[in-house]
Amino acid sequence: MINMAYPIIGERERRLVNDVLDSRILASGKYVAQFEQSFAKYCGAEFGIANANGTTSLHTALLMFDIKPGDKVITTPFTFIATANSILFCGAKPVFVDIDPKTFNIDPVKLEEVLKKEKNVKAVLIVHLYGLPCDMDAMLKLKKKYKFKLIEDACQAHGAEFKKKKVGTFGDAAAFSFYATKNMMTGEGGIVLTNNAKANKYGRQIINHGREGHSTHTILGYNFRLTNLAAAIGIAQLEQLENWIAKRIANAKRYNEAFKDLEFLKPPHVPENCRHVFHQYTVRVSYKERESFMKYLSDKGVGSGIYYPCVIYKQPLYKKLGYKTGLCKEAEKAAMEVMSLPVHPSLSSVEVDEIIKVVKGYKR
Ligand SMILES: *Cc1c(COP(=O)(O)O)cnc(C)c1O
Repeated sequence: MINMAYPIIGERERRLVNDVLDSRILASGKYVAQFEQSFAKYCGAEFGIANANGTTSLHTALLMFDIKPGDKVITTPFTFIATANSILFCGAKPVFVDIDPKTFNIDPVKLEEVLKKEKNVKAVLIVHLYGLPCDMDAMLKLKKKYKFKLIEDACQAHGAEFKKKKVGTFGDAAAFSFYATKNMMTGEGGIVLTNNAKANKYGRQIINHGREGHSTHTILGYNFRLTNLAAAIGIAQLEQLENWIAKRIANAKRYNEAFKDLEFLKPPHVPENCRHVFHQYTVRVSYKERESFMKYLSDKGVGSGIYYPCVIYKQPLYKKLGYKTGLCKEAEKAAMEVMSLPVHPSLSSVEVDEIIKVVKGYKR
């Protein structure tokens, strides 16, 4: 079976992890600080705050900009549940805006319609889904006009670029995940990026029990710290990230070329000015055919996945909060039609050929 993800762990990871084990400094330590600096530098951000995971990173980023009960935060319903949950953690209310069916990202036109109507929108939490940047020109224009905090969920988009600038550096803060299957990983892990010195200082308190100095606690903080062990893995992974992205892009390019004339399958659209890093290679098929196509792939030894089969507000938790089906038509349609093929850098050229052959051999 060709899997959807296969984390790469090299000699360098092993050496740095061993170094941490030998040092006996397993929790916070020098590799955490080094990883924060090197990841922030790679993206072009001023500050990095290492975090326990991507979800705590989102939560921290929202708290850093004072999102609290009574506030509204706009986001997309077509993402991993953690995006919207981070808004609930703050006691705030998620307001869902539909996606652009071509990019699967939040639609700037519909976003403005909602911004005109809704009062009290404190922040907009955008997601660079599958590794494709949102339209950041449009987002920054709206931010200027409507004066909200802009937070980026870049958990799937390490190294993605809009007009040659890395995602995670456009808004007030951004969250990344280093979960085991992301484009780079530390097992569990995450980071918040910001260029705001005050927010950085506050964020460091949030992740460390609200500490100011050693034993003074001035705010309600959490333990969201990353371990030195995880950071050691992250340092080694970051050194490989550009190689891996190049492989993902090359694999996606071969698929796009091979699939462009297929009638039953629509390859992903990459807008000009965007560097898509293909955390997922996601295509559209008809809802009627999706299950049988995926079954066929699996029978032929090709893994596939659906990200995401259900929009967030249709999840039982959100239904209980009063959200109704029909709110975002394009997102609901996408949830019925998308499916993703393996695109990760561990694929051999022969495996990519095999996947192409199998996909093209599908009889409807
Ligand atoms: C993975 C992911 C998260 C959560 O990250 P964890 O590290 O698993 O907590 C949040 N948002 C998106 C879009 C993700 O893909």
